[in-house]
Amino acid sequence: MKKEPERKAGKDRKASEREAGKDRRKEHYAEGSFLAEKLADLFYPPRCPLCAGVLPPLPRLRRECSWQELVCDSCAKELPWIREPVCKKCGRPLEDDREEEEYCAQCARTERPYVEGRGVFSYRGALRRSVLQMKYYNRREWLTFFAAAMTPHAVDAAVRRGVRTIVPVPCSRKKKRQRGYDQSVLLAKQLSDRSGIRMCADSLIRTRDTRALSGLGMRERRENLEGAFTVLHAERLEEPVLLTDDIFTTGSTLEECCAALGRAGIREIYFLVLCIA
Ligand SMILES: [Zn+2]
Ligand SMILES: [Zn+2]
Repeated sequence: MKKEPERKAGKDRKASEREAGKDRRKEHYAEGSFLAEKLADLFYPPRCPLCAGVLPPLPRLRRECSWQELVCDSCAKELPWIREPVCKKCGRPLEDDREEEEYCAQCARTERPYVEGRGVFSYRGALRRSVLQMKYYNRREWLTFFAAAMTPHAVDAAVRRGVRTIVPVPCSRKKKRQRGYDQSVLLAKQLSDRSGIRMCADSLIRTRDTRALSGLGMRERRENLEGAFTVLHAERLEEPVLLTDDIFTTGSTLEECCAALGRAGIREIYFLVLCIA
């Protein structure tokens, strides 16, 4: 009955798996073997992303370690996981007076352009410092832990919702120039390798840089972001897509990305963020 699209989907999947395989091999050569990594660890031992303390030797390649192996024991106990009950739409923890409800107060009165979103951590304490170090002080090695912590959610989205493509929210070109890297793409790449969901990072792009969002009200944020994103080669984005980002604050950036995806005909959008502010 549904044979034709399934066969096509199978083909597409094979093609994307081949692509992913190629990427992984490239990365393998670029990053070196287990032995090379262990040797490098002698000089730059793996550290806890929260307290920066040196971790015990890792049993396997960093990119194969679980989140538990990538954080020290005492920080592991303090992680600000977002726990149920959360808003079924945006993933924010529900306030005490809404614990019986399905949606948070905002989602209850606003139409959202995505089907469902989830965040892994609350943006506070040592985790917040760690994310800031990753973003502004070049601590890219923390991304391994972040990606590991996000992986179960991405796998869940693939199993439960059939998510096919990870799409990172692109950071501004100016920031990328300043930092020399786009942390959102690096995070999505690792998440893609770990979850086996293909990533497409060159389809949803920023068309112009926007002012920094912090300090702006909801309405100003929206005006500031309007038309800031566009989609190239929409055919590369197999639905459903999973938008990924590091921090979710008001959600206006994500919603603007959804709008751009919507204009390109992408309807089924989920999101997964590392932390919710
Ligand atoms: Zn620690
Ligand atoms: Zn909500």
